[in-house]
Amino acid sequence: MIPLAVPDLTGNEARYLQECISSGFVSSVGPFVGRFEHAVAQAAGCSHAVATASGTAGLHVALTAVGVGRDDLVILPSLTFIASANAIAYCGAEPWLLDVEPGSWNLDPVLLEQLLEQECLLEGERLLHRPSGRRVAAMMPVYTLGLPADMQRLGALARKWRLPVVADAAAALGSSCREQAVGTLGADLTVFSFNGNKTVTSGGGGAVVGAQESLLQLVRHLATTARQGEEYDHDRIGFNYRMTNVQAAVGCAQLERLSAFITAKRRIRERYNALFQEYAHFIQPFPEPAGYQSACWFSGGLLCDATPEQMRKLIARLQEDGVAARPFWKPVHLQPPYQQAPRSRQRVSESIHYRILTLPCSTSLREEEQEQVIAVLRRCLG
Ligand SMILES: *Cc1c(COP(=O)(O)O)cnc(C)c1O
Repeated sequence: MIPLAVPDLTGNEARYLQECISSGFVSSVGPFVGRFEHAVAQAAGCSHAVATASGTAGLHVALTAVGVGRDDLVILPSLTFIASANAIAYCGAEPWLLDVEPGSWNLDPVLLEQLLEQECLLEGERLLHRPSGRRVAAMMPVYTLGLPADMQRLGALARKWRLPVVADAAAALGSSCREQAVGTLGADLTVFSFNGNKTVTSGGGGAVVGAQESLLQLVRHLATTARQGEEYDHDRIGFNYRMTNVQAAVGCAQLERLSAFITAKRRIRERYNALFQEYAHFIQPFPEPAGYQSACWFSGGLLCDATPEQMRKLIARLQEDGVAARPFWKPVHLQPPYQQAPRSRQRVSESIHYRILTLPCSTSLREEEQEQVIAVLRRCLG
C-alpha cells in the first residue's frame, strides 16, 4: 500500500533525540525548545514564537490570550478540521460557522462582510451578534490545505469591526502571499501544528507566532500554568501546554529540511495536476489563486459531480489497488457536537466537502510510486 502521508525522519532526528537522553533534558526545559521556537519564527517571518504541546493547544491558548471567553462567538469557516472548533469550545465559546469561497476553500470575505453588516452591531469596542445577543470576540480564518486565506480583505474587516484575528495555519508553515511569509499576513496570532501527518512534524506539537511581543509573552505565560517567577505563584488559570525538549528535538531536525519538503510537496501536486488536465471534466486540482504560494500540505483533486456513494466506491477501489486515498474534512456544522452552533448558508462547503479526494503525497514518495498512483487513478477515472 502506498501510504497517504508518512513522515521522513532520515535527517538529524535520531541524533537530536539521543542528545535529549544523554543530557537528561526530556521535559519542557531544554535547548531544543528555544532552537525550535527560533526556527519556526524565522520560517513564518516573525520575531517571536511559543512552542506548544499540540496545534489544538496552541489555538486554545491563542484564543484565550486575545480575550475569548464564556458565551462568546468566534467566526470560523465550517470547512475545517474539528480541532479548530474544539479550541473555541474549550474557551466556553461557540463557533459562528461561515461558508468558504469556491476559489480558495477559505473563509468567504464577501459573505462575512454581509453578515457583519446585517447581523452585528458595534457597541464601543464590543461587537454584538444581534440574533443571539452574544459578543463576537474573534475571527479565526483557517489556511485550508496550507493555502493562506485572503487576509487583506479579512484583516480590513477585522480592523473595522474591532476583532482580533487568530489564524489556524496548522498546515501552512512555509506558505506565503505576495512574497509575504505566512506569519506576517495580518493575523494577531498565527498557529501551526506539527502533528505526525503535517509536512514537518515533532511527533505532536504546535507553535504560536506573532509580531506583538507582549501578546506572545501572554501566550507563553498562559501555556506555562500562568506561573510567575520561580516560586509557586500563579496569577490566573493557565495551562500545561508547553512543548517538550523531546518533541522539539524532532521538530528542529525536521525544520532543517522545511524548504526541501515543501519543494517535494509542490512537485507531487504539480504531477497530479498535470494528469487532471487530461480528465478535466472528471476532476479539478486543489485551488491556488494567483499571488499565493500554498504549502501544499496534501495533494489530490475535487471530483466534478460525484455523489457521496460514488466517492466511497472510488476510494475503496483505489485502496484495493494499493493506493491509500482518503476523503477530506466533513464540515463542522454537520458534526453532532456543533449542531446548535450559529451558521451561515453552507452552499460551498456542502457541495464540495464529500467530493475532495486526497492522494498519496509523502515528501519521500518516489516518482515510480507516484506514477503507480497515477496509473491506478487513470483506470478508475476511465
Ligand atoms: C492538524 C490541524 C489542527 C490540529 O493540530 P494538532 O496538532 O493535531 O492538535 C487544527 N486545525 C487544522 C486545520 C489542522 O489541519
